[in-house]
This record gives sequence, structure tokens and C-alpha cells, in this order.
Amino acid sequence: MKPTSVKRNIQKALLSWFDTEQRDMPWRRTGHPYPIWVSEIMLQQTQVKTVIPYFERWMKSFPTLQKLARSHEETVLKHWEGLGYYSRARNLHRAAKLVVKEHNGKVPNTYDSLIKLPGVGRYTAGAILSIAFDQPVPVLDGNVKRVLSRLFVMQSNGVPSAHEKHLWETSSELVPTQRPGDFNQAMMELGATVCLPKKPLCLICPLQKPCEAQQRGEVDKFPAPKVRTPTKKIEVSAAVITRGGKVYIQQRPHSGLMGGLWEFPGGKRKPEETEEACLKREIKEELGVPITISKKLMTIKHSYTQFRVTLNVFWCPWKSGRIRATQCEQWKWVKYEDLNQYTFPAANARIVKSLLNKGEKL
Ligand code: SF4
Repeated sequence: MKPTSVKRNIQKALLSWFDTEQRDMPWRRTGHPYPIWVSEIMLQQTQVKTVIPYFERWMKSFPTLQKLARSHEETVLKHWEGLGYYSRARNLHRAAKLVVKEHNGKVPNTYDSLIKLPGVGRYTAGAILSIAFDQPVPVLDGNVKRVLSRLFVMQSNGVPSAHEKHLWETSSELVPTQRPGDFNQAMMELGATVCLPKKPLCLICPLQKPCEAQQRGEVDKFPAPKVRTPTKKIEVSAAVITRGGKVYIQQRPHSGLMGGLWEFPGGKRKPEETEEACLKREIKEELGVPITISKKLMTIKHSYTQFRVTLNVFWCPWKSGRIRATQCEQWKWVKYEDLNQYTFPAANARIVKSLLNKGEKL
């Protein structure tokens, strides 16, 4: 338990810093729970400057929870295209439907009700309750964790769950009853703009005095560096199959990675295979038809959090046969100009962009 005077000093210093230094963000101008919820979901794993245009477009298309709940999933996913982690969009959509059905369209203002909604975890519930409903509920994201670790020289002693629990308790102790939402946002803002992972700007930090790591000259020891698992490299072959001015695309199964998104067929190359042999095998397995490979169109390199993909894309004019695509949700022949209506994972979206930029049909 931190002494009351320490807590008060931290709260006071941080809130007055936030009053003058906070960045202007569109969701901060609203105070309403729905846009705050949307922004919090978008901001998970994504930086503020990337989120802003997505947020603005989202609020224009889905200005209310009711409008979101009534929208088709394909439209919702299209608004998320490029943000990644699409389960966030699907969960938000499902949650909107539940709020309309079970809460009369109003975002619930209790922790127990919020936590039951798809995609709402302890962090999101805390952010909504404190920022939109002025309740002294803590938040703990990567930025807050870093600030707290340094402020109180907190280190994991080999039991990550115990450390996490300790961080939540500390965040809970610190959040004030007056202006809890501003305080939580100030902690996150400090982590994002001043208490940076590398080279924190301690000289301009409002918490320089109470910060124990700074006082000890041990800022670089907190938090302890993460042990990173090496990124996996995978090579994939994909087919742009064309027939009479149309392109074949298929929808990934709703459950699973990037569920519900559209893609060009293909798959992972085995070590002993050539890119072309891989594609022929994959298409035979996925569509049940043989293909003819005309030429290589492009190679795309794309990094996801866990792996790095090299995508070799081939043009395959339609040969013959009856498509029996059993591994996907559905498949379609789509006009080039309509490809933009579908949501593709990032690497596949680059194939679409390139096909449309070429301005000529294969
Ligand atoms: S003094 Fe430095 S290490 Fe401590 S909270 Fe501020 S920026 Fe972070």
C-alpha cells in the first residue's frame, strides 16, 4: 500500500501535466461511451496516428451502436481493413448487437455487464467506466505497466501472473475518485509520449520526483526486457485465377485466424517444393481443379506480429473443371472493379491494389 501523500502527489502532478500536454484526439472531444469504446478497441496494438482516420470513418458510417448493430459484417470488416486483428471488429459488431438487444442500446455502466460483452476485457471495461462514466476503475495497458514498473521499481520475480496482479493492484490504488478517467488517460499518455520504452524523457517528466527508478539511476532496468521468440518466416504461393474478366476469390472460415476475410487461393510452400509445385498442389486441394500457371505477377513481403510472409503471386488463367472448394466459407468470381468491396488481409489487399493500379485486366 502506497502512502496517501505519495499517491496524492502523483495524482496532482499527473493531472496538471495532462491538462496542458494532452494530445487532441477526436474521441476525447465526445465523452460518450460508444466512441470511447470504439477508440479503445482500435487503439489495442495500434498507434494513435494510425487509428484517427479509421475512427473518423467508422463514426461517420456507424454513428450509433444501433447503426453498427444493423450493419452487415462485410461492411464492418471493410471499415477495419488495414488495422489488423480483425476479431476486434467482429467482437465489437457482436457486442453492439447484444447491447441493443439486452441493454436497450445503452452501453452498460457496470463492470459485471461490460465484461460479459465480446471483446471487452478488464482493460477495456476499466477505460469505458473511468473515461465515460467517471468511475474510479483502474486500467493497465503496456504504457501504464511501463510507467508503474519504473515509478515503483516493480519487477517480475519469475511469476508473470503475480507481477500482473501486483500491477493491477497498484493501478487500482492510484486511480483517484475525482477525475479517474483523466488520470487513467494521463498515465497512458505519459507512457506514450514521455516514459518511452527506450530513452524516456525523464527531464520533462511530471513524475520525476516520485519516480524511484529515476532516483536510483536505474531507469533502464525497468521493466525487465522481454524475451522475444524469433519471428517465423513462411513462404506462400497464391493464385490470381481469371475467367472472362473476373477473378476467383474465397472467404476464410469465420472461426480462426483472419476469419471472414477474403483471399486469393494458395498456401504454404513445403521445403522440398518449388513455388509453382506448391501452388498446383494447394489449388488441387482447395478447389479440386488443376490450374495452368501463366506467369509470376509479383512477390510481396509482409510482416505480421508472429511471422514474416513472402507471398509469391501467379497469374493462372482458368482452365476447366468444376470447383469444389470445401475449406472456405464461400467463393466467388468477382469483376476487377468490384474487388474493393471485399475485405482482404493486408498482404492480399496489396495484390488487389496492384491489380487495380495496373488498370488492365489479365
Ligand atoms: S521519471 Fe523517467 S522513468 Fe520515471 S516515470 Fe518519468 S519518464 Fe518514466
